[in-house]
Amino acid sequence: MKRVYADYAAATPIDDRVLKVVTDTARQYSGNPSSLHSFGQEAADVLTTARESVASFLNAASDEVYFTSSGTESNNLALIGIAKANRERGNHIITTSIEHPSVLNACRALERDGFIVTYLPVDHEGRVALHDFTAAITPQTILASIHLANSEIGVIQPIAELSEVARAHAIPIHTDACQAAAFAELNIKSLGVDALSFNGSKLYGPRGVAALYVRESVSIFPLLYGGGQEQSLRSGSENLSGVVGLAEACRIAAAERVSDARRISRLRDQLQATLQSIGCQVNCASTTRLPNHLSVTIPTGKANIVDALNRRGIAVSSGSACSSRSQTESHVLVALGFNSSQINRTIRISLGRQTTKKETEVIAQLVGRI
Ligand SMILES: *Cc1c(COP(=O)(O)O)cnc(C)c1O
Repeated sequence: MKRVYADYAAATPIDDRVLKVVTDTARQYSGNPSSLHSFGQEAADVLTTARESVASFLNAASDEVYFTSSGTESNNLALIGIAKANRERGNHIITTSIEHPSVLNACRALERDGFIVTYLPVDHEGRVALHDFTAAITPQTILASIHLANSEIGVIQPIAELSEVARAHAIPIHTDACQAAAFAELNIKSLGVDALSFNGSKLYGPRGVAALYVRESVSIFPLLYGGGQEQSLRSGSENLSGVVGLAEACRIAAAERVSDARRISRLRDQLQATLQSIGCQVNCASTTRLPNHLSVTIPTGKANIVDALNRRGIAVSSGSACSSRSQTESHVLVALGFNSSQINRTIRISLGRQTTKKETEVIAQLVGRI
């Protein structure tokens, strides 16, 4: 059976060009960048070059880019690190009810430490309203964290507008850009954000490597203490080959994301039209979405659509990959006002660089049969 991968929102396959620089770097540079001998110096130089290229991808300065192990770690570091460093200024944080669990659960941990968190609602299309954000701000607010694009429904939040409000109140704003990185321009100046997370595993890069941008003027504490790597914000010997791979993934994204988006959105739109014509409801279709996402609610049918498709070789997701192994309902679809029956009949189809027209036709056909 020829399988079809349509779960790029959960993980993207590593790009061959990235894989090559990862293996070349791992083979060539054996030194620890902290060591003073020539092996260490060479590794340090490679690290510096990779940091400069990730910084230019973000339109940031090199010393504002910190490498971490995952989107989860970048989000935890941003949330917990900024909240704790600014504790004397206040104890209130604003986020949304549809963040990734790595933001939501970091917020829950902060609540146990005495912070107060406001979880903004979203409308039925999954968008946060500017006036809700403005209304939630108090003199105690020290941080806002709102994702750039949602991993379950692909909806893009109005971050530039939200960050303008945050800036007017002198509140640092962080955005989780993990899901958006392959398509959106992660220009921190035009987004107006003070902190931004993204990871390799959603950008055709290596797994287990990510970055956190933090504006130079923002105070932040580390989560890990040790040898003082990453300007003492993230101790631990650097994942040199991973970081170089991440930089290569950024270079490719910058060069190809516009043409990727054009091709993939055409495939998505055709698939969407076909699914609508057979009675599927397409969610959040009239708002700004990532070009590769498709959240569809199937009118009737099987209890487990993801399983039924998987048996026919089609890999899609129910809600998010993180929650689909657990039996809990998607918090994102709940926030959109979906009932249990609708949630059970909703799947996420996410396309990517390797998706072909033939594959989208097979998906449409098999969903139709189900
Ligand atoms: C995947 C994802 C994360 C978590 O990234 P990991 O590298 O798996 O820890 C965080 N936020 C969003 C929006 C994601 O899509």
